[in-house]
Amino acid sequence: MKERLSNRQISLQRAAELSGKTGEYLEAKKCIPRGMEMQQAFDASRKKLLALFNAREEDWNNWRWHMENTINDVDTLEKILNLTEEDKSELSILSGKYRWAVSPYYASLMDPDDVFDPIRLMGLPTIAELADDSGELDPMGEEFTSPAGSITRRYPDRLIINVTNKCANYCRFCQRRRNIGQVDRHRPKWLLQESLDYIRENPEIRDVLITGGDSLMLEDEMLEWLISSVRAIPHVEIIRLGSRTLVTLPQRITPDLCSMLKKYHPIYLNTHFNHPKEITKDAKKAAEMLSDSGISIGNQMVLLNGINNNKFIVQCLNHELLKIRVRPYYIFHPKQVKGTGHFLCSVDEGMEILEHLRGRTSGMAIPTYIINAPGGAGKTPVLPTYLVSRGPETVTLRTWEGKMFRYRNTPSRDIRALVREARESIKPAPEKAKAE
Ligand SMILES: *Cc1c(COP(=O)(O)O)cnc(C)c1O
Repeated sequence: MKERLSNRQISLQRAAELSGKTGEYLEAKKCIPRGMEMQQAFDASRKKLLALFNAREEDWNNWRWHMENTINDVDTLEKILNLTEEDKSELSILSGKYRWAVSPYYASLMDPDDVFDPIRLMGLPTIAELADDSGELDPMGEEFTSPAGSITRRYPDRLIINVTNKCANYCRFCQRRRNIGQVDRHRPKWLLQESLDYIRENPEIRDVLITGGDSLMLEDEMLEWLISSVRAIPHVEIIRLGSRTLVTLPQRITPDLCSMLKKYHPIYLNTHFNHPKEITKDAKKAAEMLSDSGISIGNQMVLLNGINNNKFIVQCLNHELLKIRVRPYYIFHPKQVKGTGHFLCSVDEGMEILEHLRGRTSGMAIPTYIINAPGGAGKTPVLPTYLVSRGPETVTLRTWEGKMFRYRNTPSRDIRALVREARESIKPAPEKAKAE
């Protein structure tokens, strides 16, 4: 005789099946370098860098010191990393063609021996940049979407003010490579004034994104002038900052900056972690200072070949982000920018990552995957198909595990009419009521 399973037994079977589904990730995670586990190596690099620059521990906590000592020559770099003769000659050739610069902090995260270390691939040029003749300089057509000042406007209710071309690190995959000249320039105040005037004259603008370059390359005073001016415009509801300093220069997040920003709420900040190795003790501290000041932080990852085009790395990154209270916001498909061809990967690779995440991890850890339409036509979300077919009465759905089911498709009706009909249907018929 077959015994019927109890509800608890059925639940236990399903739970065991679910537990089994985490094994693959937990195994893969063992091989993923995570910043929070590597503090010893980073400390050793920091000591080496401080000795090299003849500096003290307190200099390390000063973001200006990092900017003054940005590393941009092979002679300094070879004292930090173990470069081969080939590495050195390639870097020298590249230095003449494409500018590069790394903050001492970001350099301290680099593996001295591995050219394919994700931090090195993001921070230092490789010869592949020279070999890449495809791609455009401005695939997003930003030059054609600036109605005033240093604004980029591509959407009905929001826009960008570009405040500088400066960054703490010139990321090798940068979509705005064309703006990285040989000199750093903050946008002049009159140009920002012109941008503010445009926002004042266009009452439909409710969301203003201040970015660059890196918005936090501005000094607090200049930033406060701009933020307070935007805040004074009554129809602007939210202000967003774009900054990668949490990743490349977390020392920029100071108590002074936080107390300034919190005067102008609601303020949001979007940053740009691409690999779990970038989530360090220092990054965590910076993120926590911002969060404690009421600033919500989102992460905009770029999908990059050789760095994070792997479902387990993205899953691990998003978990590490949530642990420091940063919410994964977007995954951007890499753009076809000249000199970055080696980072390109396929849409199929992006889809595989999204397909993997859904169900296997918290919805909180699943960002929207975006392809930027060419010519600045806008961010276009791309996602696996869960709505398999759609009819007037039923739809067919696919679950994260690939189970298919039909689901009733009920059109909505006027809620007042529905209540009236329900009331009438339960009322006894009048003649019947009389007869009783
Ligand atoms: C990305 C972007 C925004 C912000 O878009 P969200 O989807 O709201 O994050 C606004 N303006 C421009 C020009 C942009 O490129």
